[in-house]
Amino acid sequence: MQKMKDYEFWFVTGSQFLYGEEQLKSVAADAEDIAKKLNASGNLPYKVVFKGVMTTADGITKFMKEANYNDNVAGVITWMHTFSPAKNWIRGTRLLQKPLLHLATQYLNKIPYDTIDFDYMNLNQSAHGDREYAYINARLQKHNKIVYGFWGDEDVQKEIADWQNVAVAYNESFNIKIVRFGDTMRNVAVTEGDKVEAQIFLGWTVDYWPVSELVEYVNGISEDDIDAAYKELASQYDMVQGDNTKEHYEHSVRYQLREYLALKKFMDEKGYTGFTTNFEDLHGLEELPGLAAQLLMRDGYGFGAEGDWKSAGMDRLLKIAAQNNATAFMEDYTLDLRHGHEAILGSHMLEVDPSIASDKPRVEVHPLDIGGKDDPARLVFTGREGEAVDVTLSYFGDGYKVIGYSVDCHKPEAETPHLPVAKQLWTPTVGLKEGAKRWMHAGGGHHTILSFALTPQQIKDLFEMLDVTVDFIE
Ligand code: MN
Repeated sequence: MQKMKDYEFWFVTGSQFLYGEEQLKSVAADAEDIAKKLNASGNLPYKVVFKGVMTTADGITKFMKEANYNDNVAGVITWMHTFSPAKNWIRGTRLLQKPLLHLATQYLNKIPYDTIDFDYMNLNQSAHGDREYAYINARLQKHNKIVYGFWGDEDVQKEIADWQNVAVAYNESFNIKIVRFGDTMRNVAVTEGDKVEAQIFLGWTVDYWPVSELVEYVNGISEDDIDAAYKELASQYDMVQGDNTKEHYEHSVRYQLREYLALKKFMDEKGYTGFTTNFEDLHGLEELPGLAAQLLMRDGYGFGAEGDWKSAGMDRLLKIAAQNNATAFMEDYTLDLRHGHEAILGSHMLEVDPSIASDKPRVEVHPLDIGGKDDPARLVFTGREGEAVDVTLSYFGDGYKVIGYSVDCHKPEAETPHLPVAKQLWTPTVGLKEGAKRWMHAGGGHHTILSFALTPQQIKDLFEMLDVTVDFIE
């Protein structure tokens, strides 16, 4: 995975001058202690930095402006230790252009019946202070996240962690650059979209480059570099020659590594973080990138087949949110419609991401009956079991919509000796019939991103931040 920036989240607590200097010192000390312990918990993927007690409209506005302009800040976390008159928050909150999490918590997780007095009540007013503050966020339609509960509890920290990953993906969405080698597949509708609209709402830059420019990179890769990549590949995966002659097998694997190194070099030099291919447009290439695309997805690049740049962007975006953990480009391939076995077998002609493998992938070489090119090497493996989310991005004349559902994943019931590709089986949690019908009514396509690392809530939070409609089927 390409390393993300060392993002941080700024944390402030709201108060006011009404209770005196001593109380404000306690407010600051408690908030600082929460930040310290959240960081020490090891449950948060990104650092929380305490930035002080907010008591005035001017101070809040200045703070929000600074958060906007600091590229290391991925978002803002607020908490109302005491009552903090929320008119003070209006201007700053309206100016904030980064994800906002309202941590509605209390310094102590209990009511100290024996010692509670008015000093305690003046200091610990989250119960009503957090509501006064939340009203303004609701009125401003800030689409902020609210995490509610004791800050020291693991489930609360997990919610903050999930949101942090999504907030970083939001920030990084504006850095996503997709290179299209070739156009979308001829006559296909669902992979189309408005690229300007995608840049406005999702931040993605989507460029076309002729395959001939890639071919120059492919031809420029040295045999020495391929030797080194071959050695590394053989140390990571099982090399299965099968019915091929040694020469044929090695030629195909080496050619895929040549494509892998060329694609990587091309993207790294030009700042791209995702790409598309199209089997209809391979002029000057010997093989459709199969193993090559799989290794790039493993490395964290986004990918979409048949020119599907929307899936390439989604793949990259969700890989960032998932820290490249078990998140893969997929296609609804074929169905099991028998009662009690209902499932979708997901795969692709070659390009299945090994980040979801449950066994050691095998490097195999077989003919590909589409595209009219040489036999491509590919990784063959079995997917995994567990809960996952499956999502797609569709374009309608009036904008984008994310369609998704939760799925229960399983391994295929049997081997497929005549279909040598990686495979993953899943069933929508609402049932295949119900899930598939609602997916199709919503206009969701057949290319999806399947993630074992992300939750339905994270999908909803991420696209709410991006102001893109989510139709999550549940
Ligand atoms: Mn496809």
